[in-house]
Amino acid sequence: MFLGWPDIAGLTRGRGIPVADLEARKTTGIGWVPVAQALTPFSTLAANPWGPMGDIWLLPDPAAGARADLWPDQAPFNLMLCDGINPDGSPWMACLREFLRRALDELREEFGLSVLSAFEQEFYLDGLTEVPGANYSLIAHQLAADFGSQVIAALRAAGQQPETFEPEGGPAQYEVNCRPALGLAGADRALIMREIVRDVARRLGHRATFTPVVAEVGFGNGVHVHMSLRDGAGRPRTHDPDGVAGMSRAAGSFVAGILRHLPALTAFGAPSPVSYCRLAPGHWAGAAAAFGADNREAALRLCRGREGAGFDAGAQFNIEFRAADAAASPHLLLAVLVRAGLEGLRENLAAPAPLDRDPADLSAAERQQLGMAALPGSLEEALAAASRDDTVRGWFGDEVWSSYHALKRHELEFIADMTMAERIAAYRKIY
Ligand code: GLU
Ligand code: MG
Repeated sequence: MFLGWPDIAGLTRGRGIPVADLEARKTTGIGWVPVAQALTPFSTLAANPWGPMGDIWLLPDPAAGARADLWPDQAPFNLMLCDGINPDGSPWMACLREFLRRALDELREEFGLSVLSAFEQEFYLDGLTEVPGANYSLIAHQLAADFGSQVIAALRAAGQQPETFEPEGGPAQYEVNCRPALGLAGADRALIMREIVRDVARRLGHRATFTPVVAEVGFGNGVHVHMSLRDGAGRPRTHDPDGVAGMSRAAGSFVAGILRHLPALTAFGAPSPVSYCRLAPGHWAGAAAAFGADNREAALRLCRGREGAGFDAGAQFNIEFRAADAAASPHLLLAVLVRAGLEGLRENLAAPAPLDRDPADLSAAERQQLGMAALPGSLEEALAAASRDDTVRGWFGDEVWSSYHALKRHELEFIADMTMAERIAAYRKIY
């Protein structure tokens, strides 16, 4: 089995152990190196504060285990996510699960709220027959029906509560969805879902790629994070029939906080150089720094669900963040969204009025009037926006901040001499 750890490059790294040792490892953990946080997607090492020094330990979290034993002659899928800890057992501050846990703790301590989240994640399946015009179709579903049913079975066996397997808008593009999960488990589930999809694809001779784009034109692979607020008793707290767009005051402030810091958040949600081919108008990728009710071009979309007798708005209302992709670590992404929402709550920001038009139809004057910030158009711009935002900078310890920026700069240097097509191909191999 594999003891895994979400790194800042959005990949799962760690060590394999015999299953028989798991009980002992739950106490001791397994040795690991701080410098692993400086491993780039290209298997090189970025500049980092650790060098060859120091030890940390990966401590398995039994609440984050995922095992699916569906294949009679093959090894099961068996992953347990871990926390990075120091040798004395204290949390390692560059562990992203800890980073997210602290953000969630502050939200609960200060406002009595927790976050229920579900990540919609899209991917392309290499090695399928592509049928022109098959997007969203039964044909596209059937072409991958064996894969889809094994993914659903594996997710169910692994306790991830799968809900849908869907053909998407691109040729051989699919999406899998699981039920929302509370707190840390939301990000754990997103990571586990990616890895189970990759694993099942590999077993069937395919390759699943969650890379932001597979070509310079056409639909990219989005990661849409649906979030709703819950109180201490688990009751929904996102809806209020008298609030702006039907949102509770808390949800409105949470949204306003995310909107305020959106340019900086892009450095964490769209964190690869090729993310910006996807994050463009007309891709339903949420490339506008706007909040809209059921508006697929807005970075933040209010999802209201079914209305009328028998449908509970409170349980359905959620906020969807669309401007992200799977080069982002789900833990880091959810952490910065929660932190930005928390800032909105602390300042008691008023809910933004929802934009009910395609942002592409707005004139420059209308954008200015609505206070719509421009989203960064490249990773360089996103990193600069993050560096300018002192509030966002303040959420990070020095280690994660400096290693994240060094890693991203390293990626930019690594691909600097490549054409866009070569960059897209390079990221396609990794994610
Ligand atoms: N593929 C689009 C994206 O990159 C999203 C399509 C959809 O709304 O599901 O985000
Ligand atoms: Mg989709």
